Amino acid sequence: MFLGDLHTHSLCSPDGAVPMAELARAGREAGLTCLCITDHCDLLDLTGTFTPHFDWAPVRAAYDQAREALPPGLELRLGVELGEAYESPETARDILARAPRLDFVIGSVHNFRAMMGKQDFYNADYSDLALCHAALEDYLDTLHALAALPDCYDTLAHILYPLRYMRQAGQDVSLAQRDYPQRLDRVLQQVAQAGKALEVNTWRGRTVAEWEPILRRFKALGGEYVTVGSDAHRAEDLGKGVAPAYELLRTCGYRYTAVYRERKPVMEAI
Ligand SMILES: [Zn+2]
Ligand SMILES: [Zn+2]
Repeated sequence: MFLGDLHTHSLCSPDGAVPMAELARAGREAGLTCLCITDHCDLLDLTGTFTPHFDWAPVRAAYDQAREALPPGLELRLGVELGEAYESPETARDILARAPRLDFVIGSVHNFRAMMGKQDFYNADYSDLALCHAALEDYLDTLHALAALPDCYDTLAHILYPLRYMRQAGQDVSLAQRDYPQRLDRVLQQVAQAGKALEVNTWRGRTVAEWEPILRRFKALGGEYVTVGSDAHRAEDLGKGVAPAYELLRTCGYRYTAVYRERKPVMEAI
């Protein structure tokens, strides 16, 4: 039975903690048959400063080392979580062109685009509900800008990202409110038409059921490819929520999940 975690972070991410080889071992122990390591490459840092340089050498070295000690029964893939490609598509393309043989690119938006000095959503103060809604409008426009750059991503990451932090601040916000469903449709349509994937990001098992309306809309708009990942930054979070996400995919009429090899989708039955 296929069980793949396609969104994970190793020590090669600034907020990661575990060497790739150890993640691979722990992933197999957690029952995974496929693990894709997708360390961060962000064009904007937490404070919104442009960070156009990325060194692939440590990533490649860690990946090679992990492959040498690969546990039997585990397929290991090399990906990247490329953040804020819309900020400078030329820089994003240049980074990808310099990559070693790369299987998978997760396209992310972590930062405000036109507000708050372009800082990460993680950093902002959400005590004001009006600011949350202004942030969500900014975010959905930014997602659309990223979705329109199909060479800069294979899957569109964690659409629910800013909601994580707004809810932690006690705000009752969702993408079912206001005109967000229509704005989100524009994004999903763009992804579907480009033949790209949508990511179900379980946020270490915490977010699964909330993807249902988004998965249903994506399918209705012609979307075919869905990837699933836990966003684990520690070994104990690997694979969390992946099996329930497959269950939800089946409920929404999907029979496959997509895995990427050399940036091409391969369908795995679920
Ligand atoms: Zn992310
Ligand atoms: Zn991530």
